[in-house]
Amino acid sequence: MTAVSTPHVVVIGAGLSGLSAAARLRQSGVDVTIIETASAAGGLVRTETIGGHRFDTGATVLTMPGLLVDVLDAVGVTEDQARERLSLTPVDPGYVMNYADGTSLTIPHDAAAIPAAVADAFGPKSGSDVADLLTWLRRVYDAEFEVFIDRNFDGFSDLADGRTRKAAAELVRLRTLGGLTGAIARFVSDERLQRAFTFQALYAGVPPHRARAIYAIIPDMDIGRGVWAAPGGMGRVGEVLASALVDAGVRISYGTTATGFTRDSAGSIVAVDTTHGPIAADAVVSTLERDAVARLTGEGRARRRLTYSPSAVVAHGLVPVDVTARWRSGHHTLDFGTAWTQTFAEITGRRGRVMSDGSFLVTRGAVGDPGTFVVDGLESVSVLAPTPNLDSAELPWDVLAAPYVNEVLSTLAHRGYSGIDSMRILRIDHPRTWQRAGLPAGTPFSAAHTAAQTGPFRTRNVWPTIDNLVLAGSATVPGVGIPPVLISGGLAASRVVDMLSTGGDR
Ligand SMILES: Cc1cc2nc3c(=O)[nH]c(=O)nc-3n(C[C@H](O)[C@H](O)[C@H](O)COP(=O)(O)OP(=O)(O)OC[C@H]3O[C@@H](n4cnc5c(N)ncnc54)[C@H](O)[C@@H]3O)c2cc1C
Repeated sequence: MTAVSTPHVVVIGAGLSGLSAAARLRQSGVDVTIIETASAAGGLVRTETIGGHRFDTGATVLTMPGLLVDVLDAVGVTEDQARERLSLTPVDPGYVMNYADGTSLTIPHDAAAIPAAVADAFGPKSGSDVADLLTWLRRVYDAEFEVFIDRNFDGFSDLADGRTRKAAAELVRLRTLGGLTGAIARFVSDERLQRAFTFQALYAGVPPHRARAIYAIIPDMDIGRGVWAAPGGMGRVGEVLASALVDAGVRISYGTTATGFTRDSAGSIVAVDTTHGPIAADAVVSTLERDAVARLTGEGRARRRLTYSPSAVVAHGLVPVDVTARWRSGHHTLDFGTAWTQTFAEITGRRGRVMSDGSFLVTRGAVGDPGTFVVDGLESVSVLAPTPNLDSAELPWDVLAAPYVNEVLSTLAHRGYSGIDSMRILRIDHPRTWQRAGLPAGTPFSAAHTAAQTGPFRTRNVWPTIDNLVLAGSATVPGVGIPPVLISGGLAASRVVDMLSTGGDR
């Protein structure tokens, strides 16, 4: 790699990880170009117009907004300006949870109000138990976040420093080395409440009964710290970040696809080949899945075989507002079937199958933002049904998706969402959709956070065979979802900055 006065880094992908990496690189005085296949930033955090109606077609549950403020801060946007530009609104209640026995639990945005809401639904003892649980969740977060999540690891020797040992000791004290369900059950005995604080393991691609208690950090992030919404839809997040990056001098080349790398005799990348010609680079941050990166490097496919998260079928459609008004639901409604462990066995098993007694997520952005999500009395409604990925069940989703969605909607209609079975479906995304978008195993949720694919064991953010190629995004550390990928961008940038300052050694 040649030493240059102002190094130029190419970031592949303008999803949230790429935007986060680019902001941190720019902050370090590096020239940055982002190349993005699509015509807009945000990647899987997006709002699309389908049949004249707006839908959040990727992520909907936005947590840890401070991480977005941090990205903006890196490109000179003050905290006040950042909050104003993002204009995020608290989603209150953060979740509505409907159970098969007819109980309904609303989770207020403000954690201080949660025990009372739980007491209303499940009695005073449950309320005080949940107060204790929330305190424990926060302690897990405090012990874990900076030391084990927002940090690059190079080997087990990194785990030996004093700060890490202290945090590890705290996690042992908090009894996080056992299972998640058992840990939550120490606080709440009601199985319905246990679901409320363990379903989040699925966000990490693992069944709650197999997840380690260290994943208690996720319910702290959403239930403990509250869920947020972006006015106009989730696509606003990428727009705001991209616009601030451009103001700070980052170039974003939309409609440009990376097709390969040009390398020098030492094997370092000197240019990213794209559909619009080569772009010279001193280092590259790729936010793509590993196999896609391996194709760009000419290596074919990544060496290590991974276990991928379950996938999902997501139906986007329209329901009249006078019909949705009758539902017991909020912006994010979880509708649980009677089955639980079996449901996860079905969607995460080696031989997966569709849920026989499903649990679903019903999303109604209109609850807080009717101006965006209601047109002519018709409300945009999205229904997400977790499914096995294509590695565990190679189902013919192109023909199966529509009848499966009809079945899901009919189940929901029987569970109290009267009229949902008449939803005018505008689009269904399913595992084959994600597969066609290049996502391995047909899942948008990347490699599962199994014990062997988490923390120091997750795919590292340095590419093993190329000294100036670094990874960000859900395929690498720390993992899947908006908060982790924002963090991954910062971790990737710090790798690149170290690499540039040491002339390529790492
Ligand atoms: C239906 C759904 C629901 C979800 N729900 C949630 C949720 O509620 N909460 C949550 O936190 N997370 C959720 N997620 C996960 C979250 O959206 C992702 O983990 C995160 O957005 C991934 O960000 P990323 O930057 O790693 O990748 P991406 O967003 O996938 O960005 C990668 C970018 O690279 C571009 N690209 C691909 N190939 C090339 C190429 N060759 N050249 C140039 N550009 C290229 C793509 O167009 C894309 O813009 C959900 C995802 C989906 C799909």
